[in-house]
Amino acid sequence: MIKIKDNLKSIRENNNISKLFIEALKNHNLNQIKTIPKGDLHNHALLGMRFSQFNKYFDGQVKPPPVQMNGLEEMASYLDNETIKFIKSKQEIEDLLELAITEAINDGVIVLEASLDASFISYYNNDVEYFSMIQKLKNKYSEKIDFRPELGAARVLPEDKWMEWVLPCIKSGAFYSIDLYDLESVNKIDLYSKYYKIAKDNGLKIKAHVGEFCSSEQIIETIKILNPEAIQHGIQAIKSQKAINLIKDRNITLNICPTSNIKLGAIDKFDNHPAPDLYREGIDITINTDDLMLFDSSVSEEYLKLYKRGLFLAEELNFIRINSLK
Ligand SMILES: [Zn+2]
Repeated sequence: MIKIKDNLKSIRENNNISKLFIEALKNHNLNQIKTIPKGDLHNHALLGMRFSQFNKYFDGQVKPPPVQMNGLEEMASYLDNETIKFIKSKQEIEDLLELAITEAINDGVIVLEASLDASFISYYNNDVEYFSMIQKLKNKYSEKIDFRPELGAARVLPEDKWMEWVLPCIKSGAFYSIDLYDLESVNKIDLYSKYYKIAKDNGLKIKAHVGEFCSSEQIIETIKILNPEAIQHGIQAIKSQKAINLIKDRNITLNICPTSNIKLGAIDKFDNHPAPDLYREGIDITINTDDLMLFDSSVSEEYLKLYKRGLFLAEELNFIRINSLK
């Protein structure tokens, strides 16, 4: 069996693939873009499918997400009232994960860093059962996608849950990376830093959500204390040359999700998105979905939107695509 993760280097270096991608963008050919290998490095797995699939899975009981939301608070309230309440069993977690993975595969995603919330472990009879489910999914799809399970921790998570849920996950070897998310106004940075050190010692890739809405000072603080290899969003760095320089000096990648930023109101309109400016400052960026179920825009669709609106050249987007396959 040939695992896709063993072929990433040759796929990155394949000039024919690059040519086809650039041609597909220039021809506005979404179907062709979908066939080109790409990464999705900012994806919350249980919301990684279209709303229609999520709703179908729960027998049509789910109310659609608002088209435009006022920040993370409105998103959180939709999720609390309309999605989380439906997820009651480990079977549902596993089924939704599979929907997200197959959706990614259908969009040509071959590297998927998708977060699994730390709380999922509590749905299982024991830790081993949870970790073997994750391993089973990795193996099942390994010919088509490099599924990299990411351990996701909410900023509000109390310390006892970091001990009970996060710690065994860090030590399990089942996870590729760790991420921190939720309202940026909650910032227990000393608590996170304690567990991030353990994660780093256990070989996990270090990631954190920051700079979606918050100040560039909070981005700088997060970089200095958590030392992330990648930042989820980080778009507010555009307001501070100091933040931009720090991101560049430390070789940090920004995993950006343009449609998510528009639909949550972090950026007022697509044409004003700072992704091109960050890229032209020399920062490594990638283009991602965040939550396909909420924002209804696949990675392929994101690339095409950015091209059609003239924010990037096709060649630049190809560079960004290759960057997402590391
Ligand atoms: Zn996110």
